Amino acid sequence: MTPNQPAGKVVIFEDKEKVSAFGNAIKQFDRASKILNLTPNQVALSKEPRKIMEAMLPVRMDDGRIETFRAFRVQHSIARGPAKGGVRFHPDVNLDEVKALAFWMTYKCAVVGIPMGGAKGGVVVDPRKLSIGELERLSRRYFAEMISLFGPDRDVPAPDVNTNPQIMAWFMDTYSMHYGDYIPAVVTGKPLALGGSQGRNTATAQGMVYVVRQAAKHLNWDLPNRSVAIQGFGNAGSFAALLLSKIGCRIKAISDIDGAFHNDSGIDPEKAIEFVRLNGSLKDFHLTGHAEKIDNPLELLELPVDILIPAALENQITHENAARVKARLIAECANGPCTPEADDILDSNGVVVVPDILCNAGGVTVSYLEWVQNRMGYYWKEKRVQKDLKEIMDNSFWAVVDIARQYNVNMRTAAFIVGIKRVIEASELRGLYA
Ligand code: NAD
Repeated sequence: MTPNQPAGKVVIFEDKEKVSAFGNAIKQFDRASKILNLTPNQVALSKEPRKIMEAMLPVRMDDGRIETFRAFRVQHSIARGPAKGGVRFHPDVNLDEVKALAFWMTYKCAVVGIPMGGAKGGVVVDPRKLSIGELERLSRRYFAEMISLFGPDRDVPAPDVNTNPQIMAWFMDTYSMHYGDYIPAVVTGKPLALGGSQGRNTATAQGMVYVVRQAAKHLNWDLPNRSVAIQGFGNAGSFAALLLSKIGCRIKAISDIDGAFHNDSGIDPEKAIEFVRLNGSLKDFHLTGHAEKIDNPLELLELPVDILIPAALENQITHENAARVKARLIAECANGPCTPEADDILDSNGVVVVPDILCNAGGVTVSYLEWVQNRMGYYWKEKRVQKDLKEIMDNSFWAVVDIARQYNVNMRTAAFIVGIKRVIEASELRGLYA
C-alpha cells in the first residue's frame, strides 16, 4: 500500500490482464465483507499478510554445482493462533500464489474453528528433477533459512503440492537440531514414526467425503452410484477416489500432470494408485486397459458426472469453461480451483460448490490434532481422530449452510462470512483495531 492510500484500499493487480490468485481471493473476501458491512480498517487489516519472507536457497547439486532456488513463506494472520499452512514445491509457484494460499488458510482455520492462523510457503523447483539427496538438502536449507519464522507457537508448516511426510521429517529434524531439543510440534504431516497422527495421510480427502455426505443429504441425493471426475491424483485426489469408491461412488475419470483417463463403467482407484506407486505418475495408465486416455486433459472438468473434484491447482474452472461444467456438485479439494467469475456462472446454472476453505479443511484439522498430540506427548488411535474430524467437518458444513440460507448467498460467501467474523472478533479482542 502506498503511504497516501486511504485505509481499506489495497492495490492487488500490477497487470490487470494477469489472473492473480491473490486478486481472486480478495474478490471472494469482498463479497462477504460487503454483506458484513466491515469498516475500512477492518477490511485493510484482514486482507494483507502480516509477514513475508523471500530467500534464495543455495543448494549443492550431486554434480558439484551450486544451484539457487527462490523460496517464500507468507504469514497471513496470527490473530487466532500460530500461523498454519503447507509448503509447496512447484516450478510455477510465485509470491502472488503463496499470498493467496496463506490468506485462504486463515479463513479455513476459522471456518472449522481450529485455533490457528494462516500461512503458506513455496519453493520454485520441479522436485521431479532432483535426486533424493538434492531434495533433502533443499528442504533442510528452506527450513534453516526461514527458521526465525517457525515454531510450535509461531508458525507450523505442513505438506502441500509435491511435499510429503519425508520432507516434513527433514524440516522437523533441521529445527530440532538447531535448538537441541526434540520438537515435533513445529511441523505437521510427519511420518507416524516421528510423531505424525493417525489419519493425517487421508485427512484432506476424508474431510471432503464427510462434507460431501452432508451435501448429499442437503441435496436429497443418494450417494451410492453417483459418478465422479477427479482432477489431480496426489495426496488429495488419489485418496478422494479411493474413499468415494468405498462408499459406492463410481470414479469415471482421473487425471494428473501427465494426462487424464476415463472409463464410463468406473476406474478402480486401487489399480490407479498401484500404477502410480510403480510408475511415478498416471502416464500411460490407458495402456493397462483400465481406462481410455482423454486427449485434452481439461475435458475432464466438463464430463457428464454428478460430482466434480478439482484436486490439483488454482484457476482451473474459469469464465471460459464454467458454463460447460455438467456436474451438479463441485467439491473443492484443491485451493482456489474456481475463479470468482466461474462462481457466478456456476451459481446461475445451479451448480453447488462446496468451497475449498470448508471442503479441504480436513487436512488442517488433523494437522491441528497432530500438533495437539505432539504437545501432550500422547497419541490417539485412528478412531478418536476420525471421530473428531467427522464432528468438525459435519458441524462446519451445516453452520455454513445456515449462513448461506440466512444471507441468501452461495456456500463460498457463507464460509467467508463465518471465517471473517471469527478472525475479526479475535483481532478486535487482541486490540488490533484500537
Ligand atoms: P500432490 O502433490 O500430492 O498432488 C498434486 C496432484 O496434482 C498430482 O497428481 C499432480 O500430478 C497433479 N497436477 C498438477 N498439475 C496438474 C494439472 N495441470 N492437471 C492435472 N493434474 C495436475 O498435492 P496435494 O497435496 O494432493 O494437493 C492438491 C491440492 O489440494 C492443492 O491445491 C493443495 O493446496 C490442496 N490441499 C492439499 C492438502 C493436503 O493435506 N495435502 C490440504 C488441503 C488442500
